[in-house]
Amino acid sequence: LNAEEFRRLGHQMVDWIANYWARLESFPVRSQVAPGEVAAKLPLHAPEEGLGGGEGWDAVFRDLDAVVLPGITHWQSPSFFAYFPANASGPAVLGELLSAGLGVQGMLWSTSPAATELETRVLDWLAELMALPQAFRSTSGTGGGVIQGTASEATLVAMVAARARVRRQRPGDAPLVAYASTQAHSSVLKAAMLCGVARDASDTLHVRMVETDASYAMNPEALQRALGEDLAAGRQPFFVCASLGTTSSGAFDPLGPVSRAMGDTGVSAAGGWLHVDAAWAGAALLCPEYREPATGLEAVDSFAFNPHKWLLTNFDCNAFYTRDRSALLDALSVTPEYLRNAASASGAVIDYRDWQVPLGRRFRALKLWFVLRHYGAKGLRAYIREHVRLAGLFEDWVRQDTRFELAAPRALSLVCFRLAPRPGEAPSETDARNRALLERLNASGSAFLTHTVLPGVGGASARYVLRMAIGAPSTEERHVRACWEALQRLAET
Ligand code: PLP
Repeated sequence: LNAEEFRRLGHQMVDWIANYWARLESFPVRSQVAPGEVAAKLPLHAPEEGLGGGEGWDAVFRDLDAVVLPGITHWQSPSFFAYFPANASGPAVLGELLSAGLGVQGMLWSTSPAATELETRVLDWLAELMALPQAFRSTSGTGGGVIQGTASEATLVAMVAARARVRRQRPGDAPLVAYASTQAHSSVLKAAMLCGVARDASDTLHVRMVETDASYAMNPEALQRALGEDLAAGRQPFFVCASLGTTSSGAFDPLGPVSRAMGDTGVSAAGGWLHVDAAWAGAALLCPEYREPATGLEAVDSFAFNPHKWLLTNFDCNAFYTRDRSALLDALSVTPEYLRNAASASGAVIDYRDWQVPLGRRFRALKLWFVLRHYGAKGLRAYIREHVRLAGLFEDWVRQDTRFELAAPRALSLVCFRLAPRPGEAPSETDARNRALLERLNASGSAFLTHTVLPGVGGASARYVLRMAIGAPSTEERHVRACWEALQRLAET
């Protein structure tokens, strides 16, 4: 494309996106295609002749509507309440476009100083807005923030740093053990598999899944017992992942008691690492009134959350903070001759390649910068608060309808609920009715919710539960109400 053609097509593509956003409500939220349906519309082989910059591109725009859109599940739809949100926004998309246009690869400070220095500053802004401990800011000299692709990568990076630190402080070959609650995200187990700590997904010896309490938060006494048992058996606890906002129900592990369990057993003194996975709920720390679950963050080694979930910054963008950047460098820094340069040798700059798994890195700070500048802290707080308010309304409606029940305490903008058991109904029958309700709602296209299974409390059996996760940028009260009314209508039948 020459510059003029790029300009014309670029305008056309931005128009297409703006029109798509304007039409979001007209699509079935969950894609309705069958497996293979999209592929069947695509040629089997790549084209030999290119399009050129002319009218040929009309065919591409036609294909967007005919081939791509039917196979899209509309994550930006105001009636998308599934999983956790994956926000996009105008400012973020413009940042993404600019990042692609600049085409910068920011592995080293010297490969584009702006990419590094803007990232450092924007993450310091965010840390300040969220009242994260001073030790997590670049100004501490020993800690700082970095953008990872995903929360899974953040956990992996924390785990390899932990392994390096514990092996340095406790040399030897005692088997290393990692800990997370039974409700922690599967990425903790995957990180352990990648680290070679767990051999496979069924390896329960080297990743201990710690039991949770009635609100699905980690039980710190159970953690302390597990740490003690492993130490007594000659194993070395090296990594604990606490969740702020578990994936299933949004539970908050108690950071203070968890870090005390690590301190009391001598695990912290041996270099043991406490990582906090706040992938979704972390964004709420922008609002002072939602910070209570972060009490105890001062004792944590690393903390990560995804602006790409609930902070208007399109995928991918994970904000990872650590108080011990030297542990990351110990674990991840390898310097071949071809990467050597005067700025790195001076020690005066950050080379973010040493803080992550890949070498290369995109200029992702641009989109976060645009989001922070466009909305300002006030706008972002209002955004989070509105979703929490809507979830509170939904929670009230569930409480008032005796056919339904809440399945866990509401966490911010996540409500876990289900059709209540009928008198004498077997648990499997209640589950089946809930499964059918969810499938019928999703098949209607009017809204999209997903489910989880929560363990039974006090001897009760596990329950199939529906999750109402509010957080799409365009969701208004009328969308939440329409979804609730659809659920009520389906409950009647
Ligand atoms: N951790 C938690 C608590 C999550 O809820 C999720 C995803 O929903 C993840 C980690 C994984 O996020 P990512 O896709 O950024 O790796």
